[in-house]
Amino acid sequence: MPSSARRRRSVAERFWTKVNRGAPEDCWTWNRSRNSHGYGQFKVLSGASPQKASRFAWVLTHGPIPGDLIVCHRCDNPPCCNPGHLFLGTHADNSADMIAKGRQRFGDPSALGERVRRLSDEEIHEARRLHCAGQSSRTIARRFGVHHTTIVRLANGRHWSNFPTEREPA
Ligand SMILES: [Zn+2]
Repeated sequence: MPSSARRRRSVAERFWTKVNRGAPEDCWTWNRSRNSHGYGQFKVLSGASPQKASRFAWVLTHGPIPGDLIVCHRCDNPPCCNPGHLFLGTHADNSADMIAKGRQRFGDPSALGERVRRLSDEEIHEARRLHCAGQSSRTIARRFGVHHTTIVRLANGRHWSNFPTEREPA
């Protein structure tokens, strides 16, 4: 194994010791220094400029972040580093998501069910691939006929078991 892989693993170990990891659904709070907006700060190397801990949590879990995408919090909790609470988006997605959350809290299945169309595994794979390639969630959403927040959440790696399924006929 190349030495770079060993070094990367040790950075990951160092990173996760600074996170209060809990149950999968809980917020995993950064337990070290935070920036003025409340986001955890992490230095990959001593002397390097700090980066957002939540962003690094995403990179450790999913790999490099394409383009100028940003890591957003579904939980609206800046120090949270739970990869399950993070999703990739554009600045526009982030604003739209915040607006949507203001109207209707995320996690209300009846609200979400209205916009969710069940995608096949192949479609999910393709949607994730396009998102990673830098296509906007709105473009991908139009292609698959779903709401763009569905694509944002898919890009976060959520499984369909987390989504309400289509409603049974009454
Ligand atoms: Zn969280």
